[in-house]
Formats: sequence, C-alpha cells, structure tokens
Amino acid sequence: MKKINSVAIMGGGPSGCALATLLKRKGFNVAVFYLDNRPEIIVGESLVPAIIPMLKELGIEDEVRSYSTYKPGASVWVSKDEEATSPFSFGGGSLPPYAYNVPRVKFDKTLFDKAVSEGVKMFNLVARIEKTGQGDELKLSDETIAATGDYFKGQPDLIVDATGRARTISRFLDIPTKTGQRKDIAVFSHISGGEPIEPYNIHLHRLEKGWSWRIPLPGRTSVGVVINPEHLKEFGKTKEEQYDNYLKSEEVLKKFTANSKRETPVAQYSNYQLISQKMYGANWVLTGDAGGFLDPIFSSGLFLAIKGAFRLAKAMDEPTEASFKKYQKEQLLELKLWQKLVDTWYSGRLFTLFKVGQDRMDSRFGRYIGPHMQKHLTRIFSGEAVYVNYSRIFLNFVTGSMLKLMKIGGLNRHKTSDLAIK
Ligand SMILES: Cc1cc2nc3c(=O)[nH]c(=O)nc-3n(C[C@H](O)[C@H](O)[C@H](O)COP(=O)(O)OP(=O)(O)OC[C@H]3O[C@@H](n4cnc5c(N)ncnc54)[C@H](O)[C@@H]3O)c2cc1C
Repeated sequence: MKKINSVAIMGGGPSGCALATLLKRKGFNVAVFYLDNRPEIIVGESLVPAIIPMLKELGIEDEVRSYSTYKPGASVWVSKDEEATSPFSFGGGSLPPYAYNVPRVKFDKTLFDKAVSEGVKMFNLVARIEKTGQGDELKLSDETIAATGDYFKGQPDLIVDATGRARTISRFLDIPTKTGQRKDIAVFSHISGGEPIEPYNIHLHRLEKGWSWRIPLPGRTSVGVVINPEHLKEFGKTKEEQYDNYLKSEEVLKKFTANSKRETPVAQYSNYQLISQKMYGANWVLTGDAGGFLDPIFSSGLFLAIKGAFRLAKAMDEPTEASFKKYQKEQLLELKLWQKLVDTWYSGRLFTLFKVGQDRMDSRFGRYIGPHMQKHLTRIFSGEAVYVNYSRIFLNFVTGSMLKLMKIGGLNRHKTSDLAIK
C-alpha cells in the first residue's frame, strides 16, 4: 500500500464527517464530497449510550444535547398491554446511563460543521470514480479532480466510501454481499399529538405484523413501522395512504397515535441487512453503512457508523495492508455479533424470555435471576451486550438453551414461534 497523505471521502453523513475530523487531527489532507439535498426527515434518530464517549471525543456532545431529547432508557411492548422498561442505569457497565434522541438533520449538520471547523475541505458534488486498470485500484474522474481545484495535487492517496446505503464503491466494483433473510420495509414520519412519552425512552412495539418505533423528539414524535411490504399493500396505494391508514387500524398504534397529526411526508426505506464481504482494496476502503448495515431494531446504526470511523482512523495510524485487513476483520465480526442479537428479536426468543420472566417472577429462581437478567438485557439497548463477553454468553444462554431446558422441564409454556415477528 502506497504512503497516504491525502484522503477523499465520498459522503458527508455521520461516518464520513466523523472520519474526516479524526483524520484531519492526525495530519492528513482530507476532503469530503457531500450532497446538499438531504430530505426533510432522515431515519436514525435514536442513539445508544455506547456512542456517547465518541461524541465527547469529537467534541460535539454539548451541541447535540442542546437540540435533542435526553434518552434514559428503552421500553419494549410485547403487546398492547405488556411493557418492559429498561433504564440504562440498570445496565451498570462502563457506559454513561443515557443517550439522546436526535433530530437527524441537525445531528448530521453538527458532525459536518465540526469537520469544517477542524479544517476539512468540503466539496458539494458527487465524486465520480473510475478504475485505473490496476487490479481494483480506483481514481477520481478528471471532471471530479478538476472540480476540486487540484486540492489533491493529482489523485488522492486513499478513497473512502461513506455514501451510506448508496454503497457507491461496492456497487461499482460489484463486491459480493451478504443479505439477511427479511425483506421488510420501513415507513416513517413525524407526528404531533398522540400519547406523550415521558421520560423520553425509545418505545418499541411488537405488532400483529411487523414492529414499530416511537421516538420522542422535541415537539414531535417519530413513528416508524417496519413490516413486510405485502402486509402494507392493502392499506392504500401511496406510502402516505398506507402509513396513515395503518396507524389508524393497527390496534397498538391506534391507541398511541389517536388524535395525532402527521407533520411531514412519509419516508420509505427498503433493503435490510446488507454486508459487503470486502471492506478495502488497493486504494479504497468502506466505512459506515457503505460497508454494511443491519436491521435498525436496536438503534445500532449511528453508533456502528461512527465507531467504524474511529476504527478506520486508528488503522490509519500506520496504514498498511495488515492494518486494513484488521479493520475489515473487526468490522465484519462486529456486524455478525449485532446480527445475532437482532435475530433474537425476530425469532421471538426475546419475547419468550420476557413472558417466562413474568410467569416465574414470584418463584425463588425468578427473584434470584431477575436482576441479573435485567442488567444484561438492558445492555442490549445500551450497546454494551455485544462487547462484554459475559453479557454476550449469558444472553446467548438465556435466549437459547435456558428456554429450551425450561420447556423440557415444563417451566416454559410459551411457543417461541408464536411470538416471532411476522
Ligand atoms: C428504518 C431505519 C431506522 C433506523 N433507525 C436508527 C436509529 O434509531 N438509530 C441509529 O443509530 N441508526 C438508525 N438507523 C441506521 C442509521 O440511519 C444509519 O446506520 C446511519 O445513518 C449510517 O450513517 P452513514 O454515515 O454510514 O450513512 P448516511 O447517514 O446514509 O450518510 C451518507 C451520506 O452520503 C451522501 N451520499 C450518498 N451518495 C453520495 C455521493 N455519490 N457523493 C457524495 N455524497 C453521497 C448522502 O447524501 C449522505 O449524506 C436506521 C436505519 C433505518 C433504515
């Protein structure tokens, strides 16, 4: 790998801007290619506590706090009337016991402005890439270079793809991907009115079909539904009709969104769980969603996007084939571990655990294991469960072997498949 002095980052979202800031601090010449046409609302509004140390390191936590709601925990509704709340303080680990729910457009601007204030050069244009003909080596097109006023004095030494789900380099090079089993879509919007959420936890609802989120933002609530598109079709032709009618007819959502008003257009996202199997090449590397993204159930996306930027910046301390290989390995492993956790939601194992917990609450065993369970389950929502070996092993056990053993022993009367997300 050639010596790296200059870096071109395609994509001015959270991962691209965080990386730009970190690399600038390390003395690289960094330019970001960004687009100015952000929609009115963007998904990715609920942060997890695991992101907080990175916001601090970037020096943006105070600004983020100033326009966000303070998120002290997560509440899961197994059905209309069964709720389990996990304040982050129950997690008891090394993370702060809070996070924020962020208006995304403002959050992205904070990261963008930070990069600018650190001296990152911003170009408001789509960077075009071409093959050089040397293996998978890439270059910026002549027009792109011309538009940068020779900022790179030739070509940049490294091209980073931070274009999110556009996945510019992966698509261009046709990199193999791993997709998940589910083919859901998400429709979401911001509403006013409806049932207030206090404290400002994220609320996740298991629905008859699919699931939904309610995220309390200042003055509004973000309401999103993740569902198989076939289920939605019967509710109307346009995404607005489908969203509005679904909210009015789904029993759980009807209860929480009665008397509400939709304040924004409806945005729709498809393509769930897609991971590139190669994260770097001769002179390029992928970060954030451009490298891989997962189902959003545990709000891990922004944390992973920014953590990827931190990990890549570390690899750039001594940019060698070995350091990029390590980066790739760690990124792929991390996505795999999160995916395992996500599976417990869809398979119904997490809900079965909740039900079994309720049944056994008054037994000696229930009283003994209850607090322990609560601690490690909370860590799913704080982001810590993936990184603390004990939590990972414990959760694997309680959502797997323990439920099976209890079933055999007649202590688990629930059928996991009945609680799976349809
Ligand atoms: C339904 C849903 C709900 C979600 N909810 C949450 C949540 O609650 N919490 C959470 O943390 N995460 C959530 N996420 C995930 C989160 O939104 C993403 O993981 C996060 O935005 C990834 O950041 P990024 O910087 O990698 O990509 P992006 O945020 O997508 O940023 C990429 C940027 O690149 C720009 N771009 C694209 N192509 C080009 C180009 N050719 N040239 C220049 N610029 C380009 C785009 O305009 C964009 O600004 C959710 C995702 C979905 C789909």
